[in-house]
Amino acid sequence: MKKIPYIDVYRDQTLLKDISSRIHAISKKEVQFMEVCGGHTMAIHQFGIRQMLPPTIKLLSGPGCPVCVTSRIYIDKAIRIGQMKDVIITTYGDLIRVPGSSSSLERERGNGMDVRMVYSAMDAVVIARENPTRQVVFLGIGFETTAPASAITIIEAKKSGLVNFSLLSAHKVMPPVMQQLIHEGIRINGYIAPGHVSAITGTRMYQPIVENFHIPVVVSGFEAADILHSILLLVRQVESGTPRVEVQYKRVVKSEGNTIAQERMRQVFSPADEPWRGFGVIPESGLRIRKAFSTFDADLRFPLKMKESPEPKGCICGNILKGLQAPADCRLFAKKCTPDDPVGACMVSSEGACAAAYKYAT
Ligand code: SF4
Repeated sequence: MKKIPYIDVYRDQTLLKDISSRIHAISKKEVQFMEVCGGHTMAIHQFGIRQMLPPTIKLLSGPGCPVCVTSRIYIDKAIRIGQMKDVIITTYGDLIRVPGSSSSLERERGNGMDVRMVYSAMDAVVIARENPTRQVVFLGIGFETTAPASAITIIEAKKSGLVNFSLLSAHKVMPPVMQQLIHEGIRINGYIAPGHVSAITGTRMYQPIVENFHIPVVVSGFEAADILHSILLLVRQVESGTPRVEVQYKRVVKSEGNTIAQERMRQVFSPADEPWRGFGVIPESGLRIRKAFSTFDADLRFPLKMKESPEPKGCICGNILKGLQAPADCRLFAKKCTPDDPVGACMVSSEGACAAAYKYAT
């Protein structure tokens, strides 16, 4: 396999020890920093970041794994649509295993449902073109990182006059849930903000968190040195009492973000109230397809009334997504719930907090 040269630089032990000792030297206040990106959750476990920090700093994992925060009602709806005649469900890989109220797409596929895994929304369009007599539904999940690709796909589908393709949107945006956590009284002294999301959105959207709640936000990369450096920047802000939005991931994130991707998202989607696993409905935290593209809206093409149902007995995924509890607090963790046989969504996705804890701590 070809070696990526810069990786070694960001994992260099001398560099990591140096950043760690700087954090130890200046950290006085007891703080809780939350990472709101599943990629960061995974990296924190993989690189043993917690072990490099002083006891004054606690890291909380937040609601940044798109599969984990997808509501059960959405899975139930996807299953109901997939059970209809002449429908093909297309989805990203992880979602297929997420439990709904009584089944999962994987189990339904075993029962004969036509569920196909794709790597992009465009793949679903190809399937629609190859199957003109069937309705192809793409399950659009994820944050501002995947939403632009969904938007572009819908624009292309409209341009080409495709009539048998639609998207069931569970796309979400980050800022409302970050504010919701603070409103719920969860003690967060700093956010490690998602690098990939911010590469699209830019950094202005974090300003209200600083202005309204005086909580620092540092946009972080995903390597060990990136995350440790972001924590150092957060500690400096906390200790000096000067909260602001800061970009650690400068090699990728620009303050204005990717304006073309933002424009495509605005063209196709409008903000909407959205259910999140563990949180319930958060106002304006989701993306609905605009009227101009309504023929591609699976919610309108397949109008269904659905009822939310509780999480599986014993699963504390909701509290884990809020940083209130850790995977090890769950009595099912690594016993009844494993990546091979997951009980809750946090164990399904490779970016889920429970899956990360299982992979690196058991
Ligand atoms: S270990 Fe499994 S059952 Fe427990 S919270 Fe995580 S996903 Fe839910």
